[in-house]
Amino acid sequence: MITVKKVNNKIQKQPLKGMVDNVLEQFNSAADQINLHPSIRKILSITNTEIIVNFPVKMDNGEVEIFQGYRVQHNNALGPYKGGLRYHPTVDIDAARALAMWMTWKTSLAGLPYGGGKGGIQIDPSKYSKSELERITRRFTFALADNIGSEHDIPAPDVNTNAQTMAWIADTYMSTRPPAERTANQHVVTGKPAGSGGLEGRDRATGYGVFLTIKFWYESHNKSLKNKTFIVQGFGNVGYWAAHFLEQEGAKMVGVQDAYGSIQNPKGIKVEDLFNYTKANKGSLIDFPEAHQVEKDDFFSLECDICIPAALGNQITENNAYLIKAPLIAEGANGPTNVEGEKVLLQRGVTIIPDILCNSGGVIASYFEWLQNRNGELWQMEEVIDKLEKKMKHSFVRVSDYAKKEGLDMRTAAYCIAIARIEKAYIQRGIFP
Ligand code: GLU
Repeated sequence: MITVKKVNNKIQKQPLKGMVDNVLEQFNSAADQINLHPSIRKILSITNTEIIVNFPVKMDNGEVEIFQGYRVQHNNALGPYKGGLRYHPTVDIDAARALAMWMTWKTSLAGLPYGGGKGGIQIDPSKYSKSELERITRRFTFALADNIGSEHDIPAPDVNTNAQTMAWIADTYMSTRPPAERTANQHVVTGKPAGSGGLEGRDRATGYGVFLTIKFWYESHNKSLKNKTFIVQGFGNVGYWAAHFLEQEGAKMVGVQDAYGSIQNPKGIKVEDLFNYTKANKGSLIDFPEAHQVEKDDFFSLECDICIPAALGNQITENNAYLIKAPLIAEGANGPTNVEGEKVLLQRGVTIIPDILCNSGGVIASYFEWLQNRNGELWQMEEVIDKLEKKMKHSFVRVSDYAKKEGLDMRTAAYCIAIARIEKAYIQRGIFP
């Protein structure tokens, strides 16, 4: 595999730090465990391609603003790069690298024919109008040009991007192809609206998958979710849908934190009530009448059975891991627990269902959407849910069995399975030339 690192078309070396250190530590401990081939360790420790684009966009007031967008392609040994695009102030090259690596492990673990990529724009989307966001998205797509593609690198929604964002990307990408290639390129992105090539159920797939892994864990311990309590950090697409399905199963949401504040109610917070409230309150849970406000730093110490970080990375660290009361953590977000935080939790006997397993429902459903588009089919919701459940169950059982057999935590077990699959592909194919 050739390593090409392009920054504004210039080859550059970037120091690894922050989130990348975290993902590399996770990777290296699994690599030690399976005695990974040293050449493959070298290949997987670095990203294949890093793209940074600067592009101008006309704002509503007529002025031009310059934006910086990223796309990092970590590895494609198993298939095209796959992973989301996020719009958030924390997006930078280090975050994109780490998130791209997590995608490689996630798609491999799920048994998908994909590699890993990630990208986005460093913006706070709440500061822009809908038409500005449309122009930013279209111009970003145009700037990425052939660096994405239906069989090369397939973006999807992530933090602060959604089906609408994907529809704009698909439309821009298709509009800039030669006429005969236009409609055949719908699958350049997944997570599109169901009416424009999207998959029924893709919107809830990540949250549903988070719920499923929790349910499987409870089942494997012969326990029921009825009356179990949970807290959710992040009430976006993933947090909301996970909470929705947990409540349907009889569990009770007792605490929620979003970018604006934290609330709790030991008697339970109704998921749909909070959802409707936040929709009417510019996305914020502040002043939700049926709960009390909690200090930000006290959120993770709330009494509960299940803790679901479903927001950003590096949230559970050595600074707060000791506060966590829940015996089970289900990682809806990517990289929410850092290595030091995890050490504290494992020592205390807390189980972590790792991100690359827990939130893999989204990319699995993306794969279904991609197949649907490629084959010119339209799948029904029941079919999607049924297939998703089977795939998630298969991954969950593999990870739990491996962890038990080898005496490992679930994250290391998940990494071992994911990395071994990529190693096998490299060994079969060899390294060009
Ligand atoms: N952004 C999601 C993730 O982190 C989905 C990626 C995809 O569907 O390609 O897994």
